Amino acid sequence: MTKAETFDYHQIAASVRIPQNAFIDGAFVPAKSGATFENLNPATAMPLGPVASCDAADVDAAVKSARRAFNDGAWSRAAPEHRKGVLLKLAELVRANADELATLESLDSGKTISDCLNEIGNEVPAFFQWYAELIDKSFGKVAPTDESALAVIVKEPIGVAGVVLPWNFPLLMAAWKAAPALACGCSVVIKPAEQTPLTALRLAELAMAAGLPAGVLNVVPGFGETAGQAIGRHSDIDVVSFTGSTEVGAYFLRYSSESNLKPVGLEMGGKSPFIVLEDAVIDDDLISNAVSAACWNGGQNCSANMRQLVHETVKDEFLAKVVEKVRALKVGDPLDQATEMGSMITAEHRERVLGYVESGRQEGAKLVLGGSKHPDFSGFYVEPTVFDAVTPEMRIAREEIFGPVLGVLTFSDPEDALKIAADTEYGLHATVFTKDIDRALHLAKRLPCGTVSVNKFTEGDVKTPFGGYRRSGSLARDNGTEAMDQYLQTKTIWINITA
Ligand code: NDP
Repeated sequence: MTKAETFDYHQIAASVRIPQNAFIDGAFVPAKSGATFENLNPATAMPLGPVASCDAADVDAAVKSARRAFNDGAWSRAAPEHRKGVLLKLAELVRANADELATLESLDSGKTISDCLNEIGNEVPAFFQWYAELIDKSFGKVAPTDESALAVIVKEPIGVAGVVLPWNFPLLMAAWKAAPALACGCSVVIKPAEQTPLTALRLAELAMAAGLPAGVLNVVPGFGETAGQAIGRHSDIDVVSFTGSTEVGAYFLRYSSESNLKPVGLEMGGKSPFIVLEDAVIDDDLISNAVSAACWNGGQNCSANMRQLVHETVKDEFLAKVVEKVRALKVGDPLDQATEMGSMITAEHRERVLGYVESGRQEGAKLVLGGSKHPDFSGFYVEPTVFDAVTPEMRIAREEIFGPVLGVLTFSDPEDALKIAADTEYGLHATVFTKDIDRALHLAKRLPCGTVSVNKFTEGDVKTPFGGYRRSGSLARDNGTEAMDQYLQTKTIWINITA
């Protein structure tokens, strides 16, 4: 239960304990080198405090501890009911500490407190709970053999999982990966993004309090080049699960091929379409979904739908209403519960987003709203931005912007919308709005991406697998029962029957 809507989260921010050290083998420890990096609040550009800057030596210590814990079996071979109980307790502790965790997350990322409260008060515990509930309900298989044999197919935890995370949904992404990995009996080493290390560190502490044995969950904050690469190349890590850019995802395939050939699960970028067919009713619900698809989390979302493909007959009405809604978005102090959009993650990222706005202008798109640094704040803010007259070959229609830049394209034939939507190297997500179920299903089946949502912008929930086609992902999926496949291996036990 989180505090009332009128509660002032600055009160928690003023006294919240900011984690500073890595969490290895059940305890907070500084980096072996003693190095730290300064962690900024992106909404104010002010320091939040130093954080241990882990490198290969710290990753190695974390992996050794994870391996020892895996081998001793206190978690990996524990009765399913035991693991279930601990993960349910962890879900409860996250819920009980949601105000503190959400405040830490908001300070660390510039995300709005209302989003952080929803993600951490509701979604993160739901992940631990759902996978906990699966543990004692997952059965193996018996193969159809003749009477001379019994062939049993069992799943076993893969071992030590390395988890490398992005900054856009810091604790939620940790839960997406740690919850199924722990449920399967794996030990886990998490590297949070350097911009957002705080809530993963606190999660590890809560996991110990819930009864997870020391070494089963370790967190090594640090930079990608050092800590991230050390995870990718470590020969005693059995699987890596990564969310982030396509460029860095590709590095992990290389690290694997140059080390122990560990499997690598990749969830990467996207350039997802939001398709509005001729018969869609351009009402508040559709417009809220369109704006949320582009501006939720400041557009810093891998499944953001920035390419909004709108039938020419409804385009003017759509654009006018979208502009009105985006103009009304309350951008501001992330700790204020009324705020709907916070800051970009870093000054560098803000400049990258503004660079895309400039390219849109230069390539002939029509800037209808926003397009600049936000004038009112000291942190890394950009104005929510709307472009009209975007065409498919423009950079803003092809490249992942990761900022609140909604671009409207038009079409006259739904088959053209499909062609434009599919003409991308990515394949993560798509949304379709129409009243015609046949057309919706036709598009849903033809769109080359991992998730298609109809008449709502959503990524699904804990029960439904999430991941991308093409350069948006590997065959691995987060969420759903499919996520467990990343952290399990399959064994056949063939028993000869001689009687
Ligand atoms: P990155 O892909 O660079 O970072 C994701 C994670 O990988 C971070 O933990 C990062 O560490 C780590 N990493 C970075 N470089 C390496 C490396 N050489 N070896 C091993 N690990 C590494 O994403 P960014 O955060 O820099 O964002 C850049 C762009 O990526 C965004 O603008 C967006 O387009 C896309 N992105 C997509 C996300 C998604 O959800 N699919 C999420 C985040 C970004 P470090 O702590 O140093 O950042």
